[in-house]
Amino acid sequence: MTNPDQRLRRVVIAGGGTAGWMAAAAIARTLGRTVDLTLIESEAIGTIGVGESTIPPLVNYNRLLGINEAEFMRATQATFKLGILFDDWKEPGSRYFHSFGLTGKDHWSAGFQHFWLYGRSKGHDPSYDEYCLELIAALKGRFAHLPEDRMNYAYQLDSGLYAKFLRKMAEGDGAARIEGRIARVELDGESGDIAALHLDSGQRVEGDLFIDCTGFRALLIGDALHVGHDDWTHWLPCDSAIALQTESVGPAVPYTRAMAHDAGWQWRIPLQHRVGNGIVYCSRYLDRDAALDRLVGNVEGEILTEPNFLRFGAGARRKQWHRNCVAIGLSGGFMEPLESTSIHLIQRAVLRLIRMMPLTGISEHDIAEFNDQQHNDMLQIRDFLVLHYKATDRRDSAFWRQCASMEIPDSLAHKIELFRETGRVFRRNDELFAENSWVQVMMGQGIMPRSWHPIAEKLRDDELARLLTMLRDEVTRTVSTLPEHAAYVARYCGAA
Ligand code: FAD
Repeated sequence: MTNPDQRLRRVVIAGGGTAGWMAAAAIARTLGRTVDLTLIESEAIGTIGVGESTIPPLVNYNRLLGINEAEFMRATQATFKLGILFDDWKEPGSRYFHSFGLTGKDHWSAGFQHFWLYGRSKGHDPSYDEYCLELIAALKGRFAHLPEDRMNYAYQLDSGLYAKFLRKMAEGDGAARIEGRIARVELDGESGDIAALHLDSGQRVEGDLFIDCTGFRALLIGDALHVGHDDWTHWLPCDSAIALQTESVGPAVPYTRAMAHDAGWQWRIPLQHRVGNGIVYCSRYLDRDAALDRLVGNVEGEILTEPNFLRFGAGARRKQWHRNCVAIGLSGGFMEPLESTSIHLIQRAVLRLIRMMPLTGISEHDIAEFNDQQHNDMLQIRDFLVLHYKATDRRDSAFWRQCASMEIPDSLAHKIELFRETGRVFRRNDELFAENSWVQVMMGQGIMPRSWHPIAEKLRDDELARLLTMLRDEVTRTVSTLPEHAAYVARYCGAA
């Protein structure tokens, strides 16, 4: 235990990007005046300036903080997101959709894919996609909130505006903000804990618990405390990105696009007022100028911003919590943005930290538990991302040949083989991506199970046909009642 007899009061957040303000807003709202919360950020340094596509748990995060959704969407220029459309991943010309919805109807013993696979063997043609409400709604450009959260969605947003929105909330809830550059991290000579942060201005900011949200710089957890980094670039070889924004050329669609190219992929994320674009690539196979040309040549609408060049390496901090410092956001690790998991990892870390907020001294057991849970999240997400690169028929470039021939983690190899042989996928340890996510991506990337669960064959042919028709008709009927997405957003946000 550190400081066992002292009440832990002073929480200092270093950095005010999406991570810093997500942490500040949640801590200030949840713990109120039981802590003294200070956030230090430097406008001169700025934030990373990307991060627009999210996944459904963010809806709950905002609800937990009591955020009004329409107000939040207005402030962040957000649109709704029902999933990701993947182009050219299995092979050039191929396409699949990873939706946030459930497909068909599961039985407790077997997911819907088993019934669909059996149906296919009996000559039922409709694709797996046609049984998913969110997927069909997305492709038709439709959206509405449905009773009992029947439509599972996330947001496409401007994360810089989200940080601003959260800043207002956090300051309203008592968080103090200091503008300035952190020049030095002071360690306590005896304990080795962080004692204070020194700013360029000469100001010294003391704290009991420090949250490192300084982004890739990792000033506290990395530079000062020397916590190392696990390198996963041999599994996730993309190491560079270029982002730029364009004007919208049509109504915003409720999905993000991920278009593979011969050395990585490109994103397109429609917001209310503009479109976010970026190319993610492996610098071994594509140089910066060629990547920029490719991106510029494959955007729609007028380019509104200068290109934002970014370098990164996939990997995770070995300990996200060390001594009296917790790394949240890019300082804790980064895996590439393919499945929009970074802001989610911030959310998980912030909520986890609040659950484990010390009363007095910091418990080594809390630290161990936090690190174990965070690590588990990151490993599961890592495997899900690696799947997209490994399971592909693409061999048309050195990049894809490298991906196809790479060794993959045993945990992923097992998951793929289990699915290939039996059609089964299991969600373990509170895993973020549920069974249907794995099924959609595995089949989309070309892994087709060789068999199905025997329970599917319990159905007589006419029962199976009735079930499949009924489920598909229900999707078609519901989608036909939904309004057009962009018009719905405009109305919902009060802008129409
Ligand atoms: P930053 O935004 O870098 O913030 C760091 C903060 O620390 C800033 O306020 C900075 O001023 C401050 N700071 C640094 N040094 C000092 C200092 N010395 N003194 C004072 N202050 C300092 N995530 C998603 O969920 N969805 C996406 O679609 C997505 N797309 C991405 C695309 C790319 C190419 C990349 C690289 C990332 C993407 N991410 C995405 C990740 C997402 O951008 C980040 O997780 C998110 O923005 C959080 O960043 P951060 O707050 O940790 O770091």
